[in-house]
Amino acid sequence: MKVDLEKYRKYIETRIAEGASLRMLENEIGIERQKLSREMKKAGMRVPTRIESVKFLWKNHKHPHIGKTGSLCPTYGRKMSDETKQKLREAMAGDKNYHWSGGRKKHSSGYILVYRPDNHLADKHGFVLEHRLVAEQKYGRKLTSSDIVHHIDGNKTNNNPENIVVLTRSEHAKLHNGLKKCNKRRNTSA
Ligand SMILES: [Zn+2]
Repeated sequence: MKVDLEKYRKYIETRIAEGASLRMLENEIGIERQKLSREMKKAGMRVPTRIESVKFLWKNHKHPHIGKTGSLCPTYGRKMSDETKQKLREAMAGDKNYHWSGGRKKHSSGYILVYRPDNHLADKHGFVLEHRLVAEQKYGRKLTSSDIVHHIDGNKTNNNPENIVVLTRSEHAKLHNGLKKCNKRRNTSA
């Protein structure tokens, strides 16, 4: 299907100037963002980078929350009642928010990073490993380098608080040794 970008050009340019991300535009005008990015480039329009959008959101919203970027938010783009909006705001405010979704990205190591420049765990680019952030919130204390965060189901991207446990280095090593033996036994007996 041919995308008639001219129809949307003015709208897209305005929204980008406001800091909208490709994901937001995808939700708003209903064109898949890979396709949108391709067509925008063809039309000589500037395509916002993910990082750019994230930085914009961080600067402009005191409590960035699900819905601002549209990711993870099934209701994004739909009209919400004021009551629903208020409920969402309360649920997502500040530290209660495990899953602030703006600026989530996957690291080459397979872990999820989130943009939290004010956090003590942030790297020099302002990103924090999400599972460590979730662990801090779950345990209600700051993590140190001797705290190892383990994913119970083995899935590095499943940062649900229930899937996360903080162990010492030796506890963690013991656990993984045990798991290895367990897998070996299973494989040889099969
Ligand atoms: Zn582990």
